[in-house]
Amino acid sequence: ISATPARLPEAKAVVSPLPTRGGTVSMHGVSKSFGPLKVLDNVTLTVPAGSVTAILGQSGSGKSTLLRSINHLERLDEGFIAIDGEFVGYRQSGDTLSELKEREILKRRVEVGMVFQNFNLFPHLTVLENIVEAPLTVRGTPRAQAEADARELLARVGLSEKANAYPRQLSGGQQQRVAIARALALKPKVLLFDEPTSALDPELVNEVLDVIKELARSGTTLIIVTHEIGFAREVSDLVVFMDQGRILETGRPDKVLNVPDHPRTAEFLTKVL
Ligand code: ADP
Ligand code: MG
Repeated sequence: ISATPARLPEAKAVVSPLPTRGGTVSMHGVSKSFGPLKVLDNVTLTVPAGSVTAILGQSGSGKSTLLRSINHLERLDEGFIAIDGEFVGYRQSGDTLSELKEREILKRRVEVGMVFQNFNLFPHLTVLENIVEAPLTVRGTPRAQAEADARELLARVGLSEKANAYPRQLSGGQQQRVAIARALALKPKVLLFDEPTSALDPELVNEVLDVIKELARSGTTLIIVTHEIGFAREVSDLVVFMDQGRILETGRPDKVLNVPDHPRTAEFLTKVL
């Protein structure tokens, strides 16, 4: 009798015990070039609903393009991306790429929220107006309801007293917390973060990471591009290491961050740690 324990399938090992509202992201054979440059090269990845995935890799390795693909901001050359089994963006059909109808793409885009490095708040709108804008225009939520929801979200990110402030009156960390509240206002199944703390002064990084940590317990699928290795170790279920448009390594953080299989992962970790 073998003493070796049966290996759990990877996807099962990282499924969150929390109740989820869906949000499984599957990418298969995704490739994307800009001119001669292959920015995504046959990327295959499954992110279970409710899990937290950290994407690591050097600048230029394709991390932002990967996130933008999930959010339908990039057209794929090959492969497909599905959320809960529903295709998003482009897909392969026989030998030809078929395009989803624009209206369908817009509908599905609402299920994916995105938080950018530079906050991207509307400068001429107050904090509250920034948050209610999408629910009012995209979802047609009644204003009273949208404002009540927005105030709840502001409380959740610790900014109740800033509802009537303008973005320029806030610190970078506060602006990013508003951006997170704004992304949550559409109740996305999947929330993407593209280096959410890279533009912040060091002393403001933790207030944003703390908000993301709280979200990690909420059952929303989170995919986070970050150079904060300690944070990735603490919150993620899955770490993905990208290099030159490819996924070189995926696994649990204690594996990938402590004993990586690939020398390029190890090299990257010595640089950022
Ligand atoms: P990362 O986020 O890992 O730094 P990106 O996904 O932003 O990487 O970019 C990967 C590569 O693709 C880089 O070499 C970048 O210059 C290039 N790239 C990204 N977007 C475009 C674009 N719209 N047109 C041409 N090249 C692009
Ligand atoms: Mg990037």
